[in-house]
Amino acid sequence: MEGKTVVFNSEIDGYNEVVLGNLLHGSWRSLPRFCQSILRNYVGFTILYFVCSALWSLYAYRLNPNVSSPEVSKTRKNFIVKHIWQTMKAMPGYILLEGVSEYMVEQGWTRCYSAIEDVGWPMYFVYFIVYLVIVELGIYWVHRASHEVKLLYRLSHAQHHVYNSKHKVSPFAALAVDPLDGMLHTLPFILATLLVPTHFLTHLLVLFCEGVWSINIHSTIDSAEIWPLMGPSYHLVHHCRPNYNYGNYTIFMDWLFGTLRRPESAGAKNEKNM
Ligand SMILES: [Zn+2]
Ligand SMILES: [Zn+2]
Repeated sequence: MEGKTVVFNSEIDGYNEVVLGNLLHGSWRSLPRFCQSILRNYVGFTILYFVCSALWSLYAYRLNPNVSSPEVSKTRKNFIVKHIWQTMKAMPGYILLEGVSEYMVEQGWTRCYSAIEDVGWPMYFVYFIVYLVIVELGIYWVHRASHEVKLLYRLSHAQHHVYNSKHKVSPFAALAVDPLDGMLHTLPFILATLLVPTHFLTHLLVLFCEGVWSINIHSTIDSAEIWPLMGPSYHLVHHCRPNYNYGNYTIFMDWLFGTLRRPESAGAKNEKNM
């Protein structure tokens, strides 16, 4: 167990060094590793959020041939300011949870492993697929419960559903959630590290890609449906008709549990709201 902890400690130190580098003249190195990791995640996700959301917005609202009217642009800009404000308030909450998760990895309380050679490439892929299934299933039910448990909806998830039409959603809305909501949606990733052998770096990259994916599905572009992905058009249906499309990466769970609604079948009300 101790050897495993030492390996993860030096691996995490390496990631902190890559992301934080000479930030604050390197004074972050005097912080406990737990705080260093939180700082690394905070800096990393903030850069990811602003760069990725800005690029998606540039594509969706400037380079896209369907230019919006001045009124729509004004509404959207007002909402983008709200999205950014809400994101900045929520981010410390779920970043803290990720810090706790890394601490659990360091302590050897999870089933994370450091090197792919520890399990070999075939089992790496098998475990990774099981990990993704756990995440997809977990997010589906966390999200669905966030709607169906009314108290939970009112206290937490309703914050994200203030953005209930196309012009109120933007890539910047991806992380504009209540802190508790952000933490609940992070739990399936942590649960997966407890249940299945997980390559630690892959786990960190999945969390990073989750941020990019979330920004993508809030881009509101009229995306082509690429089976089986839960693309932007599907997630926009969820913002307009919240009883459908709870999934994250794919449409599988909604199909399996009867809550799938395809964009073109969303109906006249949806069209009007969009
Ligand atoms: Zn959303
Ligand atoms: Zn929802």
